[in-house]
Amino acid sequence: MTKKYHIIIFGCQMNISDAERIASVLESKKYKKTDNLSEANLVVVVACSVRKSAVDRVYGLVEKIKKLKKRPQTILTGCVLAKDKIKFEKSFDKVLDIKDWEKNYLKIKPKYSSKKLAYVPIMTGCNNFCSYCVVPYTRGREISRSAKDIICEVKNLVKNNYNEIWLLGQNVNSYKDEKINFPKLLKLVNDVPGYFKLNFTTSHPKDFSDELIETMTKCPKLSMDLNLPIQSGDDEILKKMNRPYTVAQYKNLVKKIRQAIPNIRLSTDIIVGFPGETKKQFNNTVKVLKEIKYGVAFINKYSPREGTTAAKLEDNVPWEEKKRREKILIDLVNKKK
Ligand code: SAH
Ligand code: SF4
Repeated sequence: MTKKYHIIIFGCQMNISDAERIASVLESKKYKKTDNLSEANLVVVVACSVRKSAVDRVYGLVEKIKKLKKRPQTILTGCVLAKDKIKFEKSFDKVLDIKDWEKNYLKIKPKYSSKKLAYVPIMTGCNNFCSYCVVPYTRGREISRSAKDIICEVKNLVKNNYNEIWLLGQNVNSYKDEKINFPKLLKLVNDVPGYFKLNFTTSHPKDFSDELIETMTKCPKLSMDLNLPIQSGDDEILKKMNRPYTVAQYKNLVKKIRQAIPNIRLSTDIIVGFPGETKKQFNNTVKVLKEIKYGVAFINKYSPREGTTAAKLEDNVPWEEKKRREKILIDLVNKKK
């Protein structure tokens, strides 16, 4: 009998990339993929803990699995908080850290889910400890992958007709492999022979160097879409978020990038309703959004995540007010299109 696995992914591109490596491990163990949950012998859930809503959806899924006629084996993996791991151990047969799949999981040759676009992780983890964020707790400290491995993977992908390469990391700008920093890696990837579009995400504004801007102008394969999360347009909130830049510094960075690369299309991430965010402070974010004119903005309603420093602050902006602020920003960005 063929063993079949079904994989469910929550969250970001990083989780899609992890799922591609997990799929490869399972297929080496003779599992075949199924898109039909009810015929699976094994269900793997790649979770995301960044927002509470994504964790709630895992609970919803547990109920759905319980109702299946033939109960499959279940594994929860991905970005899971230690405290949630203990809770989920009752509902899943196994709760695995992403590193439990294989000692050096970045070395696993992935089974790409698309025939055209490939996500290539260049680093994992994060050292920034933004006060609202669980990533440094769920994914640990930053580890950069060897540049040699990355280039080898990209060469292979291009040879196999992939025409979009997406370099991934929670903070790609702090990539470091001996003498190779992120700008140098970007140029090396750009110079891999063949036709492809090159993208990278995510960039922390504090690490976006002049060297990177200059290198970007020398990378003709680079996509003109750049995600540069600002998170808030208010200096006091940025400080409370442990984002070590001011709005003026951020705006100056945008100016430099737009001067060097006039066709760049910027997107951003914003959190509304951070603890203590007043209407005036929120209006500063509105003001920045009007000034910078992003093509796309990902607006997130703040949710406290256990273990983070912001979770110790009172979550005192009511949910309805967060929804109102979210709508104002969404309407603002959409109006410009
Ligand atoms: N490394 C990236 C972001 C990773 S998390 C960066 O530094 O920007 C993706 C997005 O989720 C963040 O940009 C932030 O806007 C949002 N986010 C993270 N924690 C959150 C929380 N506790 N509540 C609401 N949104 C959150
Ligand atoms: Fe989270 Fe900040 Fe790291 Fe991004 S940079 S993953 S928001 S701690």
